[in-house]
Amino acid sequence: MPRIVMKFGGTSVADLDRIRNVAQRVKREVDAGNQVAVVVSAMSGATNQLVAWVNALDDLHDAREYDAVVATGEQVTSGLLAIALQKIGVPARSWQGWQLPMRTDDAHGKARILEVDGAPMIASMESGQVAVVAGFQGLAPGDRIATLGRGGSDTSAVALAAAVKADRCDIYTDVDGIYTTDPRIVPAAKKLQKISYEEMLELASVGAKVLQIRSVELAMNERVRVQVLSSFQDIPGTLVVDEDEIVEKEVVSGIAYARDEAKITLRNVPDRPGVAATIFGKLAEENVNVDMIVQNISAEGTTDMTFTIGKTDLPRAQAALAEIKEQVGNSEVLVDPNVAKISVVGVGMRSHAGVANTMFKALAEKSINIQVISTSEIKVSVLISAEYTELAVRALHTAYGLDAH
Ligand code: ADP
Ligand code: ASP
Ligand code: MG
Repeated sequence: MPRIVMKFGGTSVADLDRIRNVAQRVKREVDAGNQVAVVVSAMSGATNQLVAWVNALDDLHDAREYDAVVATGEQVTSGLLAIALQKIGVPARSWQGWQLPMRTDDAHGKARILEVDGAPMIASMESGQVAVVAGFQGLAPGDRIATLGRGGSDTSAVALAAAVKADRCDIYTDVDGIYTTDPRIVPAAKKLQKISYEEMLELASVGAKVLQIRSVELAMNERVRVQVLSSFQDIPGTLVVDEDEIVEKEVVSGIAYARDEAKITLRNVPDRPGVAATIFGKLAEENVNVDMIVQNISAEGTTDMTFTIGKTDLPRAQAALAEIKEQVGNSEVLVDPNVAKISVVGVGMRSHAGVANTMFKALAEKSINIQVISTSEIKVSVLISAEYTELAVRALHTAYGLDAH
């Protein structure tokens, strides 16, 4: 009997009618003879509300209590979907992260999955009962509830698919597949039939939130067949596959944007060995991930150090930088949350020159100033003022010939 994992995101379970619709989709797969586990997100907007409550009390809150609060959204939808399934005659039960258990590390708020015991889940599925699993949550050391970072239900689904050796992991969402860029920003975006793990990984890492980056990492390592498809329409979605399954390789396969980063500049940092280690060591200690970094050499023996971090880490980062100010010896700390990172991604860049230049030219033509640049083998990213996000994404989509004709 084929075994499948189906995952439904927030918009797909946004109200009771949509939960009933999801139950019907699940029933169809059960009736077709599949063993089914379902992973659900919180109702659309629920997690944002929970996060807002926590931050309103204290933006330097205890991350373990943050997790205790924000994990509840998924508990609600898992129970509701189990009831909706039972109501239409499909045996089902809900599973919370701690009940599986989905074991994670102790990086509360962005925990990594360490281990999932597939056995109880397989037993449940084999008995004909649909397992409805609360996504986004797991069990950290000390039996504390952990959450996997925003968008983490995708990762729950892939981890579960790997643990139960599922034949497929179907990610149902509010778009009908993976596009060359966010179709909500660029109506001319093209739907991809297939995308390689590598390219999806890179797109996810630079902000394409259609899949959480860790879900792609995990799918690639565990060889899980992931498909992204619509929970509202019955049309084929996009398959995430090995690079060699893709026949036509484009130089640039996609464009992504991220508005969830903030730019920090430390002014007049003494230009001596160990300064970067002190700054970034302290931020790492505080669990703050740093993304882009630029440092300039200056003649006067001091330099400005600019870097980006997640906006949600801003309060902790600012507190940490204040603590080490004496030690580092910098002058003021400038913070700019109104930035966006725009990235072009494509495996074809490995063998093509001039990709970055096309980007710089297209942005220059729109008079968009570039603040920071970073590159990897198959990606170029720039930091710009957030107000130009849509303009930049559209201009680049056209410049790389990606617009659907
Ligand atoms: P869910 O709640 O189902 O997990 P998300 O909002 O997390 O849904 O992810 C789906 C959204 O991802 C889409 O609504 C779309 O706006 C956005 N998105 C960003 N980049 C892309 C892309 N390249 N292809 C498709 N969707 C994208
Ligand atoms: N509900 C969580 C979030 O909004 C997890 C998810 O939707 O994947 O980030
Ligand atoms: Mg999501």
